[in-house]
Amino acid sequence: MPKKQPFLSVRNLTHTYHSKSGETRALTDISFDLFPGEFAAIVGPSGCGKSTLLDLIAGFIPVQSGYIIYPSSGGQPCIGYMLQKDHLLEYRTVYQNIILGLEIQHRLTKDRTNLVRELMEDYGIADFANAYPRELSGGMRQRAALIRTLAVNPKLLLLDEPFSALDYQTRLEVSEDIGNIIRRRKITSLFVTHDLSEAISIADRIIVLGRRPGYIRKIIPIDFGSDCRLSPHESRLHPKFQEYFDQIWKELKSE
Ligand code: ADP
Repeated sequence: MPKKQPFLSVRNLTHTYHSKSGETRALTDISFDLFPGEFAAIVGPSGCGKSTLLDLIAGFIPVQSGYIIYPSSGGQPCIGYMLQKDHLLEYRTVYQNIILGLEIQHRLTKDRTNLVRELMEDYGIADFANAYPRELSGGMRQRAALIRTLAVNPKLLLLDEPFSALDYQTRLEVSEDIGNIIRRRKITSLFVTHDLSEAISIADRIIVLGRRPGYIRKIIPIDFGSDCRLSPHESRLHPKFQEYFDQIWKELKSE
């Protein structure tokens, strides 16, 4: 069988921050592939370089050593980035916030606005289109932020702890929704979280980073042995869930 071509290849990435107080080596020799439609999670102790890795892939900070390539598309594709803080503009309605990226890119076409409407329906926030962000719950705000990110049709989605500001129950609901939507749309995604259960319940593969300077300790494929991917809730109830949790926990503890 021909080998599947990666969507994204990261090779030998090493990154050092330089400041007046000295140098901080954040990442060392990071290499991995991400395949089309794959949803991978990055876990690791605080300060091990998870956000730095996403920022390098997003192009927010320049690559110093190593490289990032997109073998199946050539150049860098459209990338969506979702953060812990939703950064919704309080003076714009929910709909106006969602179409902001399209407006800036002068891509407010009929197709795009139809997609936005469809996503808002899917997410149950169509009724809040004319509301202002302050009128929404934390979970609804994160849903609006995701739709704003998806509206520009990203081919790669980077998520940096997008649920960590939410209370536990909302976090479960929103992560379940977001996981399902991203999967249904088959968007290749890379997701940073410090919550192991969240990572196991959503991801196809988990990249475990070791303590600073961050390095790849292990890459663990998640497979619940089902023909179709289980929902995050079903995954949490599966007997293999605890096995994965223990495996990753041991990796992190032996750091
Ligand atoms: P994580 O997301 O895993 O918590 P980060 O990528 O935020 O880790 O940070 C990795 C290391 O790099 C940490 O030690 C952090 O203090 C340091 N760091 C992050 N950003 C900067 C910066 N702009 N200047 C200097 N050091 C930084």
